[in-house]
Amino acid sequence: MAKKKTALKVKKGVEPPPSVNAEAVKRFQTRKAKVMPPQYYVEGILKSDRTILAKAITLIESTLPRHRKAASEILERCLPHSGNSVRIGITGVPGAGKSTFIEAFGKHLTGLGHKVAILAIDPSSGRSKGSILGDKTRMETLSADPMAFIRPSASAGSLGGVARKTYESIILCEAAGYDVVIVETVGVGQSETEARSMVDFFLLLMLAGAGDELQGIKRGIIEMSDAIIVNKADGNNIEAANRALAQYKNALHLFSPPPSGWTPLTGKCSALNNEGIDAVWEMIEAYVKLTKENGYFVENRKEQQIKRFHNNLADNLVNKFYEDEEVKRLLPELEEKIKNKKIDVYSAAENLIRGYLRK
Ligand code: GDP
Repeated sequence: MAKKKTALKVKKGVEPPPSVNAEAVKRFQTRKAKVMPPQYYVEGILKSDRTILAKAITLIESTLPRHRKAASEILERCLPHSGNSVRIGITGVPGAGKSTFIEAFGKHLTGLGHKVAILAIDPSSGRSKGSILGDKTRMETLSADPMAFIRPSASAGSLGGVARKTYESIILCEAAGYDVVIVETVGVGQSETEARSMVDFFLLLMLAGAGDELQGIKRGIIEMSDAIIVNKADGNNIEAANRALAQYKNALHLFSPPPSGWTPLTGKCSALNNEGIDAVWEMIEAYVKLTKENGYFVENRKEQQIKRFHNNLADNLVNKFYEDEEVKRLLPELEEKIKNKKIDVYSAAENLIRGYLRK
């Protein structure tokens, strides 16, 4: 029988024409997506079903009220099954080799029998094509590994919103049995502080042959790192890598010792050649052993939770305050008075808060 001819045949590898609005397609698809009862997701997650885990994370990322409602129920029921993992933050400027490193590192871990989940905090991915981390071609080998679960950053929202979704995703991944959870960020901004507040171990990936000024890494990020690993220590770069190592070792000496009791370490690797990757994992295992023995591991997680609770309280209160009708009415008046030096800022703030609380 002759093959049916159609102009609409989709050829593998052929990109859809630019006229197709990807956002519109996505919206159409998500609108049609059926929400199952929370039990379905919880059972699937506990059975470590990757497809159901991914669907549950989609609910977490959604802003639709009915999705949020289902998401919080799923979360609540997964919470007792969470916590049993090593949470690792990995950061570095674009080009430092994060995805190459995570791919090699992840493969090493799954080879050792670990189940590895990779999440990302990348608020830039909300801006159309501006994502720094969300490139789909990354970590191709690892994504085909049944022991690994890779989730690009939530695609919209403020840094706080994206970070919250990432944290909630950690809980679901742990409930699904992932015992190593990696949170990746781009080492250029605020995302690192968010990532730091949800992981046990924070790793900064640097390039050999470029000073840290060149790499735009802020002092604060170095200060919050448990390890600085110089990547691309291969070929002509080896000497530069050694020089960089010495430099970072010195930089780390300048900071007071962290409360974990761990002395931040430096190391080098070649993610491309798969060299030094095992040593990084050994370093993390040593950290976990030390901090579990001295109690910091558990204490730190509790403290992170309490901080998250307070931050959330503060955010919620601020939002409620600014949404208040009376506040909305009085705010411009007070701003005008401040500009005209009719009232000082402190009294203005106090008056407004007092007015809000008296209602
Ligand atoms: P990311 O932007 O931090 O995720 O960096 P990528 O993993 O995409 O790597 C950026 C470039 O550096 C790619 O061309 C990689 O092939 C290359 N690269 C990554 N790791 C190494 C390494 O260990 N040695 C060398 N020579 N190149 C590497």
